[in-house]
Amino acid sequence: MTAAESYAELVRRAKELGVLNSCAAVLGWDHQTYMPTKGGPLRGEQMAFLASLAHQKFTDPKVGELLSAVEASDLVRDPESDAAANARELRRAYDRTTKIPQSLVEELARVTTQAQQVWEQAKKKNNYASFRPLLEQIVKLKREEADAVGYKEHPYNALIEEYEPGTTAAELKTLFAGLTAELAPLVKKIVASPKQPDKSVLERELPIDRQKVFAEAAAVAIGFDFGAGRLDTTAHPFCSGVGPGDCRITTRYNPRFFNEAFFGVLHETGHAMYEQNLPSEHFGTPLGVACSFGIHESQSRLWENQIGRGRPFWDHFFPRLKQTFHTLADVSKETFYFAINDVRPSLIRVEADEATYNLHIALRFELELALLSGDLAVGDLPGAWNDRFEALFGLKVPDDAHGCLQDIHWSFGGIGYFPTYTLGNLYAAQLMDAVRREFGGGIEDDFRLGDFTRLKTWLNQHIHRHGQRYRAGELCRLATGMPLSPKPFISYLREKFGALYGMC
Ligand code: ZN
Repeated sequence: MTAAESYAELVRRAKELGVLNSCAAVLGWDHQTYMPTKGGPLRGEQMAFLASLAHQKFTDPKVGELLSAVEASDLVRDPESDAAANARELRRAYDRTTKIPQSLVEELARVTTQAQQVWEQAKKKNNYASFRPLLEQIVKLKREEADAVGYKEHPYNALIEEYEPGTTAAELKTLFAGLTAELAPLVKKIVASPKQPDKSVLERELPIDRQKVFAEAAAVAIGFDFGAGRLDTTAHPFCSGVGPGDCRITTRYNPRFFNEAFFGVLHETGHAMYEQNLPSEHFGTPLGVACSFGIHESQSRLWENQIGRGRPFWDHFFPRLKQTFHTLADVSKETFYFAINDVRPSLIRVEADEATYNLHIALRFELELALLSGDLAVGDLPGAWNDRFEALFGLKVPDDAHGCLQDIHWSFGGIGYFPTYTLGNLYAAQLMDAVRREFGGGIEDDFRLGDFTRLKTWLNQHIHRHGQRYRAGELCRLATGMPLSPKPFISYLREKFGALYGMC
């Protein structure tokens, strides 16, 4: 077999796996949306069957041989070539998958399935003691996973690699230290400002059918292709990129809170537009897959916050909002705009505003590091959480349900996942900074007219079309001309909230 033939065979196998995984994605979407309850057990079997089939196919020693043949050839000489990028990322995934013993994979699956059920009850009943033994097992198993995969410096590096390849705990520490030092005093100033928004306007009666029409219109305006996607309702909103021509998002409607569905839809639409604009000819291979969790999150946060919570966006949409919701007839644009940009320290991460959000992540990152290195015992987690929370937010945590039990992530073993939310926020701000440098104020005029084409095209060109050709850090440098920095995000917050809260 020539190297070219080996590469062709590798691509064929990757594409076949892409098709297999897309089948699982449709079943997963159906499970969350329309499947009758009694279909659960069969669906479980279907999903497990597809997962084991995919695992079997991917860990076939032949894949390793093909990879080695390609890696030893001239095909990878240019590190940015299709073959080099595909080989690099397939190698990372292949090594990771084959290094973790099957017994550990099964043990993790068993423990995390149980842990998710226990966590749900523990949160409901505010009972950390019941969740603690499972979290202890999860931390232990994740440490074993890190040991199996191998790492330099900190076991955390082996775990974050699953979400944000190329990023390290040391880099994140520096990033979070810089962020926290700026954010904490900024939030204090905002809280102390005599000028505060009237949030109650967002809690007026807003019929769900109208919310749906309004949110769909916004999704279309920013670029969601309904010919290649759907919007449905679920308890926990998500975006599932099935494959070329098929990306599905969901939301949930609250008749007495505007933000929930509307900003949720903008968020998921941002994710979906990334999926809808990946190069379809590379489907199944790394070049047809989103770069990283952090870059994915940058796309959702960009549309949700940088655009959707921005003034120009509402210059266009506010008159339509008033036409849609009669209960908002007496509300001014300024009152509304201030209300959707309300900043206040709160206990729950998913309800947090743009200024306090990353402090929630900084807290989790710190605790994850300590848990994994053994500096913090799982039994001491609630105390450590509450102390650190009070130091960061100036709030006392009343109970664990509003503290260390609030998120699902640790119960499914997602240690290393949280930082990607903050990376998303930082990338989003840095991307918009680059867009403004390129187009000047004219781009805001586009938004005021409800025209997002130039921004969408820019994102297609600088982010979406590359798939995994570059690692996140490099993609950021290429798109913005600079390595990732918290500065654009901090300046964005200062400017926006300085003006709103009268602190200029
Ligand atoms: Zn997201």
